[in-house]
Formats: sequence, C-alpha cells, structure tokens
Amino acid sequence: MLSMKNVSKIYRTESIETHALREFSFSVNEGDFISVTGPSGSGKTTFLNIAGLLEEFSNGVYELDGQNVTNLSDAQRSRLRNEKIGFIFQSFNLIPELDVFDNVDVPLRYRGFKAAERRKRIDRVIEMIGLGSRAHHVPSQLSGGQQQRVAIARALAGEPRFLLADEPTGNLDSQMAESVMQLLEEINRAGTTIIMVTHEKNLAKRARRNIFMHDGRVSSNESGLHLAAATA
Ligand code: ADP
Ligand code: MG
Repeated sequence: MLSMKNVSKIYRTESIETHALREFSFSVNEGDFISVTGPSGSGKTTFLNIAGLLEEFSNGVYELDGQNVTNLSDAQRSRLRNEKIGFIFQSFNLIPELDVFDNVDVPLRYRGFKAAERRKRIDRVIEMIGLGSRAHHVPSQLSGGQQQRVAIARALAGEPRFLLADEPTGNLDSQMAESVMQLLEEINRAGTTIIMVTHEKNLAKRARRNIFMHDGRVSSNESGLHLAAATA
C-alpha cells in the first residue's frame, strides 16, 4: 500500500551532486510497523520526506494507497499529504505560543473541519496521549516527552493512514523514549501504519520489520523471527 520502485533523489548544489537515494525500492504493507536504521547521511530522512510527499524525486515510481503519486502537482501532493500522512520530528515542531489544544487544532483547521468536529477529535487524541488535564499548557510548560506526545496527537488528529516519524525519541531520555515508543506501538495496534527512523537498536527491534539503509539504498530488510520471539 506504499511502494517505491527504483526511486532516485539527487541534491545538486553549485559544487556537488549528492545521490541521497539510489534506485531505492521498498514496499510497506497496511498495518506494518517499519523501523529504519543506518548511518548518518544514508538517506533515511530523504526516504521519509519522499514517502510523506514533502519532496519530489528524479526517477522511479511511487504508489501510495494504490494511487500513482509520481507526477502529482504541488497542490495535489499537499492535499493527499494532509489527508493520509502524519509526521513526527525529532524536534517536536510545536508552535510555542499555542497551548496543547490549539497546537493539535492547527492541521484540522487547515483541512477545514467544523469547530465541533475539531473539538471532538482534539479531545479524543489529547486523552489518548494522557494529557487531558494539560490541554491549556503551552509547550514550555511540558517535558520533552510530553511535547513529543502532543506532536503525536497533532499527527493523529487527522486520522492519517501513515505515521512517519524521523528520530522521534532522539531528543528524549530513555524513560521518555520508552513512553513515546509505547504510544507508537499502541497506535500501530489500532491500525495506523508506521515508519520510524531511529538510531536506537532496542527500539528498532520492536518494529515488525527493520530496514537498514546504506548509501541511499536498502542494504538489509529483516522481518526477523527475533521480532516474534521478542514479543512472544
Ligand atoms: P539521513 O537522514 O540518513 O542522515 P539524509 O536523507 O538527511 O540522511 O541525507 C542523505 C544525503 O543527502 C546526505 O549526504 C545529505 O547531506 C544530503 N542532503 C539531504 N538534504 C539535502 C539538501 N536539502 N541539499 C543538499 N543535500 C542534501
Ligand atoms: Mg535524518
């Protein structure tokens, strides 16, 4: 339901050409939880950004939810992104002046939902992340782990099919990372497909499948028995 075939991405600056993805091919099934690991510069963020329709690419074919999205216009791409994709970043990217409720509201307003529908969705996701009592706190009044939970709520409020997370625990201590990971696992069990880039092997192992990227390609792809064993 998300499939890339021979996708290439080249960044050009005045002096150098960087092949961030080299004939990258990969498929993600509905309901999957994929972790992506690999050295810095191996193309992990580029893969997520293309998967999330934030960036264009040079060659290859990308199908999302049965639709060929290779040659969409910018407007078509952002509409599809808003409908189907939720993003979480290492640095949370919350708006500092807005409280939890209003941060979660931002993408819903953008989608044009009516106030009552927005309130229902916001209340539901804020409850889900365990911050129901902090709806009117601003980000600076929250811990890093709580802020990342708000970012997850914001990503989920639109009920995306795909949640794309770029090192979501990279700025968190291990206890907060664990609580964010548990939340992601819960979201995946409820049916959302997740792709998570992480440096942390212990977290990567908990996904259903791990891909290891090297030099713009998938260099190994495991849906290991060790994963089944780990959850048995
Ligand atoms: P990772 O997330 O695995 O660290 P990235 O996908 O961010 O890797 O980057 C892959 C390669 O593409 C790196 O060599 C990086 O320097 C380069 N790159 C990424 N974004 C840009 C950009 N906007 N302009 C030029 N080069 C870029
Ligand atoms: Mg990166």
